[in-house]
Amino acid sequence: MDNELKFWAVSLMGPIASGKGTQAEFLAMEFGLVHLENSRIIEEKFVQDPDNPVVQEAKKAYLAGQWIDPQVMMNWIIGTMKDVAARHQGIVMSSGFRTEYETEKELEFFEQAYGRENIKIITLTLSEKTSIERSLNRRICKANRHPIPNLPEYRDLKVCPQDGSELERRVLDSPEIVPKRYQEYIVKTLPVIDFIKKRGYNIIEINGEQSMEDVHRDILNKLW
Ligand SMILES: [Zn+2]
Repeated sequence: MDNELKFWAVSLMGPIASGKGTQAEFLAMEFGLVHLENSRIIEEKFVQDPDNPVVQEAKKAYLAGQWIDPQVMMNWIIGTMKDVAARHQGIVMSSGFRTEYETEKELEFFEQAYGRENIKIITLTLSEKTSIERSLNRRICKANRHPIPNLPEYRDLKVCPQDGSELERRVLDSPEIVPKRYQEYIVKTLPVIDFIKKRGYNIIEINGEQSMEDVHRDILNKLW
């Protein structure tokens, strides 16, 4: 592929298992963007700084399926974004924006580092039923967290097609936690969409019930 590299800040929003990770990977490959994922940033902190009480507190909440203190999370996320922007690379976030507080901080950073015209906000819509069905059966690879969706063509896979590493379930994809996370998304994130619109942004809305190829095609059609 010889697509132009883009200095974009793309934010993918949508409930659990709406395909954010998969679509972020597609966009990262096509436009040379760095794929940022909150759970990856969080899990790296757990490994790098396990004795820090702030990290320990965050880990407790995270493993119970609750959200980490917004200020702590924000420092971790913005810190990572600054590193990427400093290297002059675009960003695709597969887990943002989530709350009004985070959105305000992240948009502020994007506007200043990337410019308004380079900010692209996409929402993937998905019913609770599909969200639960998909998330209970999907996997990720151990080495690079490549998402392996719960689709027929992937069910027999034993290792990651991209790097050959082992596949595993995510801690958060359990029957106890998934419905909670879906509801949290509805309660906390939908008001964020109104907030973004009030700041004058156009939100690209995509039907996430479709196959990942169709979702990707719709995103490309609407990105310009
Ligand atoms: Zn992989």
